[in-house]
Amino acid sequence: MRYYSLNQNAPDVTFQEAVVRGIAPDRGLYFPREIPRLPASFWNSLNTMAVTELALELMRPYAGESIPNEALSAMLAETLSFDFPLVELAPGLYSLELYHGPTMAFKDVGARFMAHCLGYFSRDSDREVTVLVATSGDTGGAVARGFLGVPGVRVVILYPEGKVSEVQERQLTTLGQNITALRIKGSFDDCQRMVKEAFLDADVAGARQLTSANSINVARWIPQMLYYVLAYRSLGPKAGRPVFSVPSGNFGNICAGMLAHKMGLPCRQFLAATNANDTVPRFMSGQQYEPHSSVATISNAMDVADPSNFVRVLQLFGNHFPELAAVLTSKSYTDEQTREAMRTLYGTYGYVADPHGAVGYLGLAEYLETHPGGPGIFLETAHPIKFMPEVERCLGITLELPPQIKEVMNKVMHAIPVAGYAQLKSFLLETE
Ligand SMILES: *Cc1c(COP(=O)(O)O)cnc(C)c1O
Repeated sequence: MRYYSLNQNAPDVTFQEAVVRGIAPDRGLYFPREIPRLPASFWNSLNTMAVTELALELMRPYAGESIPNEALSAMLAETLSFDFPLVELAPGLYSLELYHGPTMAFKDVGARFMAHCLGYFSRDSDREVTVLVATSGDTGGAVARGFLGVPGVRVVILYPEGKVSEVQERQLTTLGQNITALRIKGSFDDCQRMVKEAFLDADVAGARQLTSANSINVARWIPQMLYYVLAYRSLGPKAGRPVFSVPSGNFGNICAGMLAHKMGLPCRQFLAATNANDTVPRFMSGQQYEPHSSVATISNAMDVADPSNFVRVLQLFGNHFPELAAVLTSKSYTDEQTREAMRTLYGTYGYVADPHGAVGYLGLAEYLETHPGGPGIFLETAHPIKFMPEVERCLGITLELPPQIKEVMNKVMHAIPVAGYAQLKSFLLETE
């Protein structure tokens, strides 16, 4: 598979080069030259295949030339070594729980897969790779955990001070070793801007081999398609085509779902549910694509005003709006609606959702009102414990700490304050 830059002004590269570079020299996101379509026989026989086997079938076209099957299969087995349960709340209404990994948010899969790829690619190089990543909450923790102790890789994480939950902050500031957290006074978009600036800075590029672990990296983005395939496999072949409602921020997750659909995964519709950061819902309602500045919400991992992956969503449909609009619906919900949804889920189904999953549920519930029939799945992207104060206050309950979280709550946090790009640059150029 070759990958090209969506800005059309850089040479095509292999999977390995796309992963190591993160972003193309012309600042474009990498996109696969072809999207293979798998036959109906594949989709009909998912439940006869082991998870690793079907993951290999799906990922091989994207990574195969850079990673031999045997190594790829081992990486996928490690990446997918926890459960992705599809929980039925009522007939036809499902929560797809993507939070059973080490940091309890769905980003574990992409982060772990990318860590394995980089570890594999740098196996016989002595040049250290610096992974630079901006986080709105969950990416940082997942990336930190995924890369902890990987030889030859240093990880630098930027997060907006005071805008991530306590659990999230602990997960990204307590690991030490090859992981450094930088706290930024500003928003996630500011962090993302500083990361992009570092990538374009010739001084930094000359001194460091930089790569990004944000969802713009193809190794993080593409494996997320597996969630949708695993959900379809859990439904079973007789359930019909599902609707997927995806709580969306940077639009990497939903874009991966739509990639699976392009590969032949049967589904009825994709719903991109957002919080007050409603750039895409406004665009899908026929207005201009016009990002405002980002707004802080209780579903903070989605506080993104200018979602990086949306250009990929457009590209999947050849930038043809009517084709996109036939498959994608996008709606925005307020924090008040989100709390109400958490109470409904708890009161009606006895189900404790986190604020992100609740936004997904809102999108699904609204869609099913006018489009009943067929299974509806919302993605529950984080364990409620990651947003403990909000969930406990909203539902009047006390949550139990899962072991993965207990472990980080007692550790000492360490983060370096960074005031602007100049400071980030000198930090990156310092020898450690
Ligand atoms: C990152 C994140 C999202 C948003 O996913 P995108 O791929 O950025 O759209 C939603 N929920 C949670 C809990 C997240 O961590």
